[in-house]
Amino acid sequence: MIWDKKYETMPRSELADLQGQRLRAIAEKVYDRVPFYKAKFDAHGVKPSDIRSIADIAALPFTTKDEMRDVYPYGLLACPLSDIIEIHTSSGTTGKPVVDAYTRADIDLWGESMARTLSMGGAGKDDILQNAYGYGLFTGGLGAHYGAQRIGATCIPISGGNTKRQLDFLRDFGSTALTCTPSYSLYIAEAGREEGIDFEKLPLKRGFFGAEPWSDNMRAEIEEKLKIKAYDIFGLTEIIGPGVAAECECQNLLHVFEDYYYPEIINPDTGAVLPEGEKGELVFTTLTKEGTPLIRYRTRDITYITRDPCPCGRTHVKMHRLLGRTDDMLIIRGVNVFPSQVEQVLVKAEGVEPHYQLIVDRRDNMDCLEVQVEMTENLFSDELKYIEQKEKEIEHQLKESLLVHSRVKLVEPKSIARSEGKAKRIVDKRNI
Ligand code: ADP
Ligand code: ZN
Repeated sequence: MIWDKKYETMPRSELADLQGQRLRAIAEKVYDRVPFYKAKFDAHGVKPSDIRSIADIAALPFTTKDEMRDVYPYGLLACPLSDIIEIHTSSGTTGKPVVDAYTRADIDLWGESMARTLSMGGAGKDDILQNAYGYGLFTGGLGAHYGAQRIGATCIPISGGNTKRQLDFLRDFGSTALTCTPSYSLYIAEAGREEGIDFEKLPLKRGFFGAEPWSDNMRAEIEEKLKIKAYDIFGLTEIIGPGVAAECECQNLLHVFEDYYYPEIINPDTGAVLPEGEKGELVFTTLTKEGTPLIRYRTRDITYITRDPCPCGRTHVKMHRLLGRTDDMLIIRGVNVFPSQVEQVLVKAEGVEPHYQLIVDRRDNMDCLEVQVEMTENLFSDELKYIEQKEKEIEHQLKESLLVHSRVKLVEPKSIARSEGKAKRIVDKRNI
């Protein structure tokens, strides 16, 4: 079902006009109200009045995550703080978090975006939606919640974890839709099988999965094991949370809600806008957001977009599933992790050298992170008991910093391969 027929199927020329008007309005707004943007526009030699159509967007400066952090916490606010009714921050724990502050209209916008997303996979008023995304600062939980309420589904805010209860609820409440990370859905499937649940007999019909990379192979596995249709949904905190782009019933590429979030693909080295079909860094401009609008935000996600018409009738451009990142960010059980964070902990720890490697794997459908780090000669000659104690100590420090558990393995001095160029810090064995 198409939730918002007028906008989701708008003829492309009309859509371009709308985007041009909205871009002009948002450029004026941030120029007048956000000193950060006024300074950027001025330094870039561009004025809001230079924007006459959506094509003029290329004249505007980019916004980066680092810049957002520099003006933490309220530096991007385009309205009085008293108009903000909710705040979320990114899960990224490298330095200050980035902030998304929502006005009432922004929460409505988010609900609309997620209503479109859920409708694309056929969810509606009659659905019982078990929302197993985490509730809290993480945008997954509340984003899916607002969307479910908007379409009138029965939302069960069970949040993530407690798999036994997830299975009980799937059975007892007859949930027809499931929202969580793709890896967690497989975990639920496995746990259910062990409990002897026959998913064929459950009313569960569809699932909306995102917040981490997955693949068509994984989709096939999820659909087969849970006996459902599985849809990819995409979003990021800075832009709104989940609900920026999603798969329609064709399950082939994700429509970007470009009347709200205007996408561009750029060459990450030169900043040049790339033509349709070419792979590059995804950039978003929020065309209607009130609280913290963003101009040309560089996501560091890599994909391509296409304007090929879609059989579903929606006219919005489509993007391929994410194809990678321009940085070395890992997503471990839905949490963003950077090798540099691990390094910061290791350089402060005693008894280890800054030679380390992150081994990422997926066991029983759960991501696991092992940090291998070299001991000093001194520690190496110590008792095993003492070495194990050190491992536990560093594990604890890493948990505090990364917010996700990792296993630390202290290895012999000089046993991690040295590289002549960029050190190979990550060994990702996940086959997803
Ligand atoms: P969230 O965890 O709500 O997705 P974050 O802001 O913490 O929000 O992380 C956003 C990042 O998560 C995106 O930039 C992207 O790298 C990744 N991500 C989100 N959805 C997907 C998806 N469907 N497929 C692959 N990666 C995704
Ligand atoms: Zn479509």
